[in-house]
Amino acid sequence: NMKVVLKHYVSGSPQETDMHLTAGTIKLKVPKDSNSIILKNLYLSCDPYMIFKMMKLERQLTDPYVLGSPITGYGVAKVLDSAHPGFAKDDLVWGITGWEEYSLISDPKNFFKIQHTDVPLSYYAGILGMPGITAYIGFYELCAPKKGDYVFVSAACGAVGQLVGQFAKLHGCHVVGSAGSPEKVGILKNKFGFDEAFNYKDEPDFDATLKRHCPEGIDIYFDNVGGKMLDAVLLNLRPHARIAVCGMISQYNREQPDGVQNLSSMVSKEARMQGYLATNYYHLYPKYLEMILPLIKESKVVYVEDVADGLENAPKALVGIFSGRNIGKQVVAVNCL
Ligand code: NDP
Repeated sequence: NMKVVLKHYVSGSPQETDMHLTAGTIKLKVPKDSNSIILKNLYLSCDPYMIFKMMKLERQLTDPYVLGSPITGYGVAKVLDSAHPGFAKDDLVWGITGWEEYSLISDPKNFFKIQHTDVPLSYYAGILGMPGITAYIGFYELCAPKKGDYVFVSAACGAVGQLVGQFAKLHGCHVVGSAGSPEKVGILKNKFGFDEAFNYKDEPDFDATLKRHCPEGIDIYFDNVGGKMLDAVLLNLRPHARIAVCGMISQYNREQPDGVQNLSSMVSKEARMQGYLATNYYHLYPKYLEMILPLIKESKVVYVEDVADGLENAPKALVGIFSGRNIGKQVVAVNCL
């Protein structure tokens, strides 16, 4: 059973060499008097929150990875054996699994059974999994969108951002996105239908950039990056603007965060800014599936994935999301069906 293990806790940006691939053994039969299941992992998801589990922080928001054990993350898997009444052999599931070929899950209560298999299975690590719900809740529940709203999305070519932009277009909004390469800017405009897009790495003055791309101001900011971009957005809000504080990836590897200076604009614009954790909204997953599956099948929403092949390429894929190497949702294919 090959697995990816964290060698030591990291500070700053994680590197491929912080992890290594090691062989282990696993019994592919569950203990009879347990509630456990054995999974054959098929796809693993590379998610930004994993950086916090690779660090040992003073104020730890989430349990750190155990050194020497396989790291964990969202994944799509097939049940090989089950002693749990809710799961049977050959069920397909998604949930938090190990970065290894096979996993023993002693308490599978947080796994979702996959009912629809006429879409790519890897989608359950993205558009039909945690990042999908993140986009859905953040945009529809927190941002209260209205037709004609001016929407700005950062990290717009990633797993969450590409969906928010497309949901906003379907809702009749005017949508601008930022991403970190000319190739991604082209994808935003030509594949996802954003009205405007720019490469933030070419823009020395974000305030001037936003004034150029959003001359009417911003009604909704879907924040994936925080830091200086959030600060510049605060100067470009329209009255009663809403900000979904989804994530702040530009700050995750910094000891000294870029301070946000312009928060008082929230007052003068009577704006609303709200953070949220997608995991607290999983009860709305069936409602989300009802909305998103027809949109995928009718090609009204498209989804771009960046698939790394094999566990041996998993560390490189994971660290790549912190430098923007991924185009679209980064997943790792392990034991493809
Ligand atoms: P992505 O697929 O978008 O991958 C991360 C992307 O972030 C990279 O591709 C890169 O794209 C961009 N990025 C990396 N470093 C920086 C930087 N310093 N400044 C600006 N952009 C950077 O990830 P997700 O779509 O999965 O996640 C997007 C955000 O949503 C993250 O902040 C994440 O933490 C958050 N999130 C929050 C959840 C919640 O429950 N609130 C749940 C899931 C995700 P580029 O080329 O554009 O730089």
